[in-house]
Amino acid sequence: MKNAHPTAELLGFSVSLLDMDQTLEFFQDLISQREPNLIMTLDATALVLAQELPGFADIIRRATLRTADGAGVKWALRRKGHTVTRVSGVDLVERMTELSAQRGYRLYFIGAEPGVTDLAAERLRLKYPGCNIVGTHHGYFPADSDPVVAADIAKLKPDVVFAAMGMPRQEQFILNTMQAIGAPIMMGVGGSFDVFSGKTKRAPKLMQALHLEWLWRLMLNPTKIAKVKKLPKFALMVLREGR
Ligand code: UDP
Repeated sequence: MKNAHPTAELLGFSVSLLDMDQTLEFFQDLISQREPNLIMTLDATALVLAQELPGFADIIRRATLRTADGAGVKWALRRKGHTVTRVSGVDLVERMTELSAQRGYRLYFIGAEPGVTDLAAERLRLKYPGCNIVGTHHGYFPADSDPVVAADIAKLKPDVVFAAMGMPRQEQFILNTMQAIGAPIMMGVGGSFDVFSGKTKRAPKLMQALHLEWLWRLMLNPTKIAKVKKLPKFALMVLREGR
């Protein structure tokens, strides 16, 4: 089957079991096929939103690939006997940028506050000389401007569009524009450009290894408490589903 990949079922969605390197290979296959695809990272927040937000579950189902992201999803899949490595948006942006420097893939960054996106691109260009970031746009515009923004992006013929506008706005933007833009990979990547611009700092490696990145984010930005509050609900949903 086209674009088949190993998956596990979790709360009504099939979640990819590909690790980071395999996901990058999958992306390269998609790029060679030239059809537009929505890609999502699936974390506990996304799975709770799927139950709370009308229409969001359908959006998740439309994705070609849903990566396992976050300690919660990793735990839920381990209960079902699957060992997964985390494939996060921020790591995928970085690895694709590195690949772009080697293979010339055309990347477009949209999302985050004005200035932040440019800074993220600039810093990645310094880190991966020769990477092909063909354009950037901030993420603060109304949905009725999506077609206008999309027309400008389409002219640049990107292979990959990373949209960092938070859920569900970034996925709505992708679905509104994917046919017009036609990029083989269109992916929501949350707060990634804030990280690459230096606006937010990633958790120290030790905290990442202990799956405490959420606690680090909460310490830096207490408004994230809304997300953390969803975790007990997520745990209950997983326990109710059983193995
Ligand atoms: N954002 C945006 N447009 C909006 C609302 C948010 O571009 O209308 C950006 C915001 O500046 C931030 C990102 O979307 O860079 C969302 O980050 P968040 O931390 O919520 O994402 P997470 O990774 O936690 O899903």
